[in-house]
Amino acid sequence: MLPVPVLEEAARDMLNYKGSGMSVMEMSHRSKVYEEIIADAEASLRKLMNIPENYKVLFLQGGASTQFAAVPLNLLSVDGKADYIVSGQFSKKAYEEAKKYGDVQIAASSALDNFSRIPAFSVSDLRPDADYVHICYNNTIFGTKFPEIPDTGSIPLVADMSSCIISEPVDVSRFGVIYAGAQKNMAPAGLTIVIVREDLLGKARPETPTMLNWQIMADNDSMYNTPPCYCIYMAKLVYEWILGMGGLEEMKRRNERKASLLYDYLDNQSYYTAPVEPTSRSMMNVTFVTGDKELDAKFASDAAKAGLVNLKGHRSVGGMRASIYNAMPYEGVEALVAFMKKFAEENPKG
Ligand SMILES: *Cc1c(COP(=O)(O)O)cnc(C)c1O
Repeated sequence: MLPVPVLEEAARDMLNYKGSGMSVMEMSHRSKVYEEIIADAEASLRKLMNIPENYKVLFLQGGASTQFAAVPLNLLSVDGKADYIVSGQFSKKAYEEAKKYGDVQIAASSALDNFSRIPAFSVSDLRPDADYVHICYNNTIFGTKFPEIPDTGSIPLVADMSSCIISEPVDVSRFGVIYAGAQKNMAPAGLTIVIVREDLLGKARPETPTMLNWQIMADNDSMYNTPPCYCIYMAKLVYEWILGMGGLEEMKRRNERKASLLYDYLDNQSYYTAPVEPTSRSMMNVTFVTGDKELDAKFASDAAKAGLVNLKGHRSVGGMRASIYNAMPYEGVEALVAFMKKFAEENPKG
């Protein structure tokens, strides 16, 4: 979802952006008016996330999945090492991609528990000479999230935050790199954000494609080629929407209130089961099952008929998943809980 006020503002700007005589979709990325848009987008994101001065913000394309390759290409030295924490499908994909480039190991995994929790690990589980440690901070498909930023000592921490970025404040200074596909919580599909500490730039392997080289993108202010102009404009509006409500503290308060409503309901009934270990619960993606595949399928189709869409769990795990990203209003979660109660009453288990 995108926030309604953002969509309304985009609609107002659609044909004639602030007297420019054209839509943002039609602008040259080298024009004065567009340069201001991308500069404002960066300034707003910096303010929102409190990004320290010694970090670059890149507006890229290719989705988080392209960063699965860009991370090792930019950080893994030719005879270096990298350690991966595998906590779900996306971190597994990131690991598989990085393995193509060198000595890449899994330092901890929760695969044996079907990714129902965040694997515990400490600095002693990491190789001290690793170039970086990679985590997926919020596991979209399984509905888990790191309860806190893990301590990786002096090894740079790289985090995929695609499904939780700007949902709450995070201490950016604890990370070497944060990256995220924008389409879950920030903007329409087509934009990828990379936030990288400056001392980690300039280490790209010689074969790194120009388009994946963070240093080159940073040197060109994300304009080495045409950036995803309209998505960046939409992201800017989303950042301003959150700044306008009071920033990430207020966003977190709203998100916690929504997630608690759903988890409190799940914890106080017996029809549905929430498979995730409570300390690993995600605030953005809430997973639950009835324990009966046919009922799960009926739930998703009945819910869609009632106007509650996209509740089917990912094809790899089944069950249900409610994604309650920033733009989902509290009333949306209330409607879901009311539907869940009704469904449980009307569909007793055999
Ligand atoms: C959706 C998602 C991805 C994949 O993102 P794309 O932008 O489609 O490549 C990667 N990681 C996480 C955590 C995601 O939620």
